[in-house]
Order: sequence, then C-alpha cells, then structure tokens
Amino acid sequence: MLRDLSALEAALADLDSKQLRRRRLTVDAFVDADSAVRVRVEGRTLLNFSSNDYLGLSRHPMLCEAMSACALSQGSGSAAAHLISGHAREHAALETEIAAFVGRERALLLSTGYMANLAAITVLASRGERLFLDRLNHASLIDAALLSGARFRRYPHGDFEALSRMLAGSATAAAVASDGVFSMDGDLAPLAQLASTCRQNRAWLIVDDAHGLGVLGAGGRGTLEHFHLNEDDVPLLVGTFGKAFGSFGAFVAGPGTLIEYLMQKARPYIYTTALPQPVAAATRAAIALALREPWRRERVSALTQRFRAGCEREGIALSASATPIQPILTGSSARAVSLQQALMGAGFLVSAIRPPTVPANTSRLRITFSASHSEQDVDALVAALAETLYRDTLSA
Ligand SMILES: *Cc1c(COP(=O)(O)O)cnc(C)c1O
Repeated sequence: MLRDLSALEAALADLDSKQLRRRRLTVDAFVDADSAVRVRVEGRTLLNFSSNDYLGLSRHPMLCEAMSACALSQGSGSAAAHLISGHAREHAALETEIAAFVGRERALLLSTGYMANLAAITVLASRGERLFLDRLNHASLIDAALLSGARFRRYPHGDFEALSRMLAGSATAAAVASDGVFSMDGDLAPLAQLASTCRQNRAWLIVDDAHGLGVLGAGGRGTLEHFHLNEDDVPLLVGTFGKAFGSFGAFVAGPGTLIEYLMQKARPYIYTTALPQPVAAATRAAIALALREPWRRERVSALTQRFRAGCEREGIALSASATPIQPILTGSSARAVSLQQALMGAGFLVSAIRPPTVPANTSRLRITFSASHSEQDVDALVAALAETLYRDTLSA
C-alpha cells in the first residue's frame, strides 16, 4: 500500500459498511469488591458474560495481595530477558508448580499464550517441514504456522481421519497443532484420536489448552485430563494464565529435553523481557486456589448446565458445547451486533464475534460463565436472551 491515509479511511469505511468495525468499550470500574462480574461501562452497570475469568479469580484478594507484596519487595519489572538476567525466583517457582499441576517433567514460562504458540510451532515445525492445523484453531497458531515457514495445511474441524490421510505416506517430519477447547465454539478436539494418529505417523502433537486448563478434568488439569491423556500422547502442552487463572502469562510444558530445546531455540522466549515477577506471584496464588477450591470448577459447570436448561425451556438454540463457552449463532454480523446492543440496553455484556475471528456467515454471540456468577445472574440472562431474540424475529 502506498503511503496514503485516504486509502486507509476507505478501508475503515468498508469495515463499517460490513458491520465489521471493532469498537472498544472502556470498563470504568468493577462494581463489587472482589468479583469482575458487574462492570461500569459508559455510565451503566452491566452484568458481564464476555470474559474468560472462568474460575472467578481475576479480582480475588489472594492474587491481588500476592501481586502487591511481590511488587513491594521485588519491583515492578524484570528489566531483562530470561536468558540474560531477568529470570527470577517467582518465575522459577511458577515453572516448577505449573509443571507439577499439569503432570509434566518441565515447563517454560512465556509472556503470553500468543507467544507461547509462536515458540512451540516455530521450534517444532521448521522451514519446509509439514504442519497440520485444525481449521478452527486460534489465530495465534495460524500466525505461528506462517512465521515458521513450514508447509502447512488446515484439516476440517475435528476430522482426525482427514488428518490421518494427510499425514500418511510421507517421511518428512510433521507436527500437528490443535486447540483443546475451541475458543469460539466451546467444543473439544478429539484428542485421543489425534494423539494416536500422531503417534502412528511419528508426528509431534501440540495442544493449546487455553480454555480447558483450570476448567476441565477431575482435577482441573484441562482437556488432557478430561480424556486421560499423558505426556506420551501429547508431547507439548501450551496454556495461558490469562483465562481461568485470572492472571497473565503463559507456558509450554513437556518432556525435559523438549523444553530445554525450546528454551535454547524459541525466539519468542529469547528476545523479549521476562514478565514481571508480581504477575508470576499472582499466578502462583491462582494455581494454589484452583487446587484448594474445586468448587469453583464445579460451580462454573453447574451454571453452564443451568443456562443450557433455561435456553432449552425458552426454545433458544445452542450448539453442543459442554464448556463455559456457549455461542449463539446469528449468521450475519449485523444481527450479532444488533443483538449485542439490545442486550447491552437490557444491562448485559455479551460479545458479538464476527469474521475474521470466526468463518464467514457464522457470526455469533459468545457467552461465557464464571464461578463468580450467581444462579440469578444466569436466569436473568436467559430471560433477557429470550426477550431479545423474540423481538428480533418480530422485526426481521
Ligand atoms: C486466548 C488464547 C490464546 C492467547 O493467549 P494469551 O495469553 O491471551 O496471549 C492462545 N490460544 C487460545 C486458544 C486462546 O483462546
């Protein structure tokens, strides 16, 4: 593109005309003392059903206290990359604790899940090698594939048989990457089948469990625990601390040799400042709470079931998700946006998800639940959805 602002203006106007322009809301404040459920936005109080704070930890006093105590004693910034002088006690302790939590030999801390995926993919799929991604994988896995220079293809969503055909009959090294829980649909990858396909074809399997960790499995250890899979089945596990753990940062975990290799080679690990120690301290508190308070996981699951039962009574169509991510498909982007606005008028914050985040013509409302919601919050949402969707069909 030439250096031409009018071309950018035209492109922005085009986004407007397609209802694809994104607009940020500014959260002015949280209303309650220790939950993020009620937010003040543009002068109104809204009930928030659009965060990934599944366990309700993002404003928990123990995380906030761990963070501030660490900041007061250790400072605000790490001032260097991990391999220079930025690696400190809280980072080391968090790596040990998250590795133990997910039952892996070793874990490596990264600044974000986005960067963790860049690190994992670029190291395990080199230029010219083969890489296979689920069609609905998170954008960071796709960007990682582009950056890696591997020859990558996307297999139809969840279709491990198609993947198996793609993998067969070539001796070139291969890697496969999948979300554990798909972030915009809430459904699970068929991980047992993916694992056996990858083992048969001697391909690396990388699972990004951003939305399963803390939420799924008998001990909250995520999608792998849900399916009873181990390090041998899924050599590399990626997770983020910004969702169920209510903090920030991310990790990759797996066999010691693989993690050591990543530490030596992964540019998104090497060439960036270590995340602040207070953030790692908050994450450690979150892991301890997730272990000590299984009721959080049980509660978010019970609220999800309550929502689904309510929607069924009201005749609201939902997809098959059993996780706290519950999409309501609207088809057009315009409809997603107008429903979102109507719900906001009624006091509810839900997100309208549009392309390119989801495929064309699959715009949706993405509703998420947190252990901090009450039963009344969920019932109020169901009632508001029923009313809003009914009015929408009348006006259509
Ligand atoms: C949110 C998300 C990421 C990115 O994690 P951050 O820590 O927010 O950068 C990666 N993968 C999936 C599936 C996600 O939903």
